[in-house]
Amino acid sequence: MDASAILHRCAERLGLDQVGTVSLPLDDHLADYLARDTSPCPFTPQDIRARTRPEMLLDGARSVIVVLFPYRTERETDPAANLSRYTWGRDYHLICTQYLDRLAARLATYFKGDRFLPVVDTSPLPDRYLAYAAGLGFFGYHRCLINPRYGTYVAIGGLITTVVFPAAVPLRRSCYACGRCLAACPGQALTATDFDYTRCKSYLTQKKGDLTAEEIAIIRKNPLIFGCDTCQDVCPHNAEAALSPLPEFAADHIRHIDATTLSAHSNRTFHAAYGDRAWAWRGKGVLLRNADYLADSPAGDCS
Ligand code: SF4
Ligand code: SF4
Repeated sequence: MDASAILHRCAERLGLDQVGTVSLPLDDHLADYLARDTSPCPFTPQDIRARTRPEMLLDGARSVIVVLFPYRTERETDPAANLSRYTWGRDYHLICTQYLDRLAARLATYFKGDRFLPVVDTSPLPDRYLAYAAGLGFFGYHRCLINPRYGTYVAIGGLITTVVFPAAVPLRRSCYACGRCLAACPGQALTATDFDYTRCKSYLTQKKGDLTAEEIAIIRKNPLIFGCDTCQDVCPHNAEAALSPLPEFAADHIRHIDATTLSAHSNRTFHAAYGDRAWAWRGKGVLLRNADYLADSPAGDCS
């Protein structure tokens, strides 16, 4: 059995059916691509060399195994939710890292002496680009990766490894160009060619400090106090997308948290209660601020 066949067999036994590989070093095209983004979101690491060199994270790295983790567990949106869908279950960093650790342990029994380093959105690497390079999807106008089976509702993780895997072939597809995400975006942050993170509600719900009147108006355009699912919810590529086969994403949901509950916590008890939630990383103050903006919203703003 060749290396790719071993990888896919190990992954399928864990329920992971969207797995691809990228050879190292990464293509020079990636550095050019990242350098063209002259106004990257502050949550994105700025050091292009670190972003394009997985070898800096694992000495002797030869490949990156990229894994998609579908998190959509039901078709409908939940009108009572005020937290983004990707945060309903336990923090995806925790779930994905557990899967990647198990995948690495299985692979280590075949590739003795080789090393595997799990990364989930916490390294400088451009995970969406790696997923594209690994043949796992293509990009829509909303800038999300679109996987042909699971749509955009996927978290991305990887294993940097010393094992040599063949490079996958990227999908030569584009989105339907229907324009729905552009029209529905609460901040008008999207065009067919550009994305202005400063007008993206998902970014603004995580930005610290007092927001401007214009930013508050964007927050008030839908009921979420953390994140924004609008461009994904309207995208036709998600209409028939499969639900997640991974049970961890369906368990232990918290979809809504109100200001009274948040206010009752000290910072210590907040992190003790919700430290395993992706929406808790900015602390309770930012969530309370957003809840206040929405509570003060003129009737109908969130419709
Ligand atoms: S997440 Fe929301 S605000 Fe950001 S681009 Fe998508 S629709 Fe616009
Ligand atoms: S909503 Fe339409 S334009 Fe936007 S990414 Fe999806 S298919 Fe493309």
